[in-house]
Amino acid sequence: MNHIGEQTNTACSGCGACAALCPKAAIELSLDEAGFFKAVVREDRCVSCGLCRSVCPRFSPVEGGKDLRESPLYALQSESDAVVRQCSSGGIAHELAADCLRQGWSVCGVVYNTETDRVEHRLISALEELPALDGSKYLQSDATALRQALAMAKGGEHVAVFGTPCQIAGLARAAQKLGVRDKLLLAEIFCHGVPSYLLWERQCERMKQKLHTERFDRVLFRYKKNDWHSYCLRADAGDCSFFGARETELFWQVFFENVLLGDACMDCEMRKTESLADLRLGDYWGRRYQQNSDGVSAVFALTERGEEALRRLKLRRLEPGTPEEMLQAQNMDGYHDRELHDGAMEVLRRERDISAAVKYYRARESGKQTLKRALLRTSAILPDELRAKLRKANSSRKLK
Ligand SMILES: Cc1cc2nc3c(=O)[nH]c(=O)nc-3n(C[C@H](O)[C@H](O)[C@H](O)COP(=O)(O)OP(=O)(O)OC[C@H]3O[C@@H](n4cnc5c(N)ncnc54)[C@H](O)[C@@H]3O)c2cc1C
Repeated sequence: MNHIGEQTNTACSGCGACAALCPKAAIELSLDEAGFFKAVVREDRCVSCGLCRSVCPRFSPVEGGKDLRESPLYALQSESDAVVRQCSSGGIAHELAADCLRQGWSVCGVVYNTETDRVEHRLISALEELPALDGSKYLQSDATALRQALAMAKGGEHVAVFGTPCQIAGLARAAQKLGVRDKLLLAEIFCHGVPSYLLWERQCERMKQKLHTERFDRVLFRYKKNDWHSYCLRADAGDCSFFGARETELFWQVFFENVLLGDACMDCEMRKTESLADLRLGDYWGRRYQQNSDGVSAVFALTERGEEALRRLKLRRLEPGTPEEMLQAQNMDGYHDRELHDGAMEVLRRERDISAAVKYYRARESGKQTLKRALLRTSAILPDELRAKLRKANSSRKLK
């Protein structure tokens, strides 16, 4: 078996479009040695029809996308405080999914699997199943279930699908190929990129040790302990809970240091301003809602289908800024330290040791980066609540 990327010299993003479309079910997604899902071809089944390559967003350029900068932007929040609390920003993904389920559609989104400690796409058809989809899981999902979503669309059923821009771009092209794009509501999230499962395994070991457990009952990546800006990782087992702040956890440090993200994330075009989705959902970062503690979603409506889906929802509609202002607070340029990434990834592949890879790139960082990291680590001695208050006070000072 070969990873498609090895055959084509293109870093596979593991979006799953090829596996969803393959008429011979000859493509599977599996973790590679660096801890990223990649498409793998079963040579005994492959008939070289080329369909996989024709929809791969990495192999053939994505064309015909809508530009976010020319699309309506909304600042939105669910009317339910409980929904806002359990979601990453304003709970829009939840409200969209709930509305689709009420109309009898199926929904395909991402859940955390506490048996495998991985995240995966899953199809649901009942409102009771929806809470498992709530909240961003900052890992690469196993997108195998997109094949099922596509098959349902082919069978005439409607499905709302949530995913990263690469997953949605691939699925949109596969659906276009089959002439069933109109059966799908495609909502993609703004995507920073995903870290390796080798990093997550290390984080799980630490959390399980602290909780004296073999298995979590629940994992929340962005528990709103103080506010939505804090990135508090929470894991529960029995009566005990672990809370991990951005300042203390290796998982968050590596995620935000932007060197050990997936190969495909480093030069991903799908996460930028052109999109094949109906909607793009994100955190309304930037000054406009810096003082808001609960969470506000920024939503771009890219198609009439997306607009219509939003129109049906009862939401708190806040004042949006311009698309340019919103996008300034996101990293839309991509990542430029390719050489450092490649070196660190080589260490990770060779040694399968996350500490060795982190040590490699931190030894090569600038003095400014080292200082920034030291300050962040030092701020961890302050209580979480105080850190949150200081962050707010600092941002209100900047606003004056
Ligand atoms: C890996 C990752 C990186 C992100 N990077 C950014 C960023 O740079 N900027 C930004 O503004 N927002 C980013 N987000 C999106 C952000 O976290 C929120 O999802 C978004 O603001 C919508 O919030 P919400 O409250 O409506 O939904 P949420 O409660 O976050 O629900 C999000 C929806 O996305 C799906 N989902 C959850 N985890 C994943 C996953 N791992 N892969 C694919 N789909 C998933 C769920 O099924 C759910 O339907 C990222 C999300 C992920 C998963």
